Amino acid sequence: MPQPPTLKVVEVFASVQGEGLRLGQPTIFIRLAGCNLRCAFCDTKHARRGGQEYTPALLVQEAVKARDRFSCRWVCLTGGEPLLQKVKDLVLGLKARGFSVQVETNGTIRPGVPADWFSVSPKPPRYDVAPGFKRKADEVKLVVSRGLSFQDVKKVRKAFPGRTPLLLQPQSNFAWSVRKGWKLLRLSLDAGLVNIRLTVQAHKILGLP
Ligand code: SF4
Repeated sequence: MPQPPTLKVVEVFASVQGEGLRLGQPTIFIRLAGCNLRCAFCDTKHARRGGQEYTPALLVQEAVKARDRFSCRWVCLTGGEPLLQKVKDLVLGLKARGFSVQVETNGTIRPGVPADWFSVSPKPPRYDVAPGFKRKADEVKLVVSRGLSFQDVKKVRKAFPGRTPLLLQPQSNFAWSVRKGWKLLRLSLDAGLVNIRLTVQAHKILGLP
């Protein structure tokens, strides 16, 4: 019988979601290895390579074990870029055990998995995303990097329906980036762009993983 593909995983850990609209919700994170991009501001460079092989079934077991110690409903697949690997069986297995599944993605690979929440973070230089995400994104996050321009913000806002929140997320909460995010927010409001918010990486402030 064919075996399910294994997945390369860097770490499994419990914390609260520190970013986006699910901020503060207890969550088990599964960080998958590998990424197809090389963003200069990447804060998870350690996840671009390496990782240990797990079957989807073993990862579901790990999540259930973590839930025994840290009662929570959500699992977040993050990276790196989690959709580079075949995560569909993992998502289905987690859902069968009662979890809701969030996927944090750069949006460049088609969203072919039945996740409950897609956090899409388009990346420079083009900030393009695969077509399926325009409808499926539950939130869109833009890292306020040195290179992010107001033209980029307008382009991304236009690429998604107005009902999908666009979150300006200062890079690693740096003061320069908060100031820039505030400026971009003001410019966005003045230009009539809808559903834009300025956010924070709360786990970094709280000192959580
Ligand atoms: S897409 Fe995300 S994980 Fe990949 S290099 Fe960019 S910031 Fe890092």
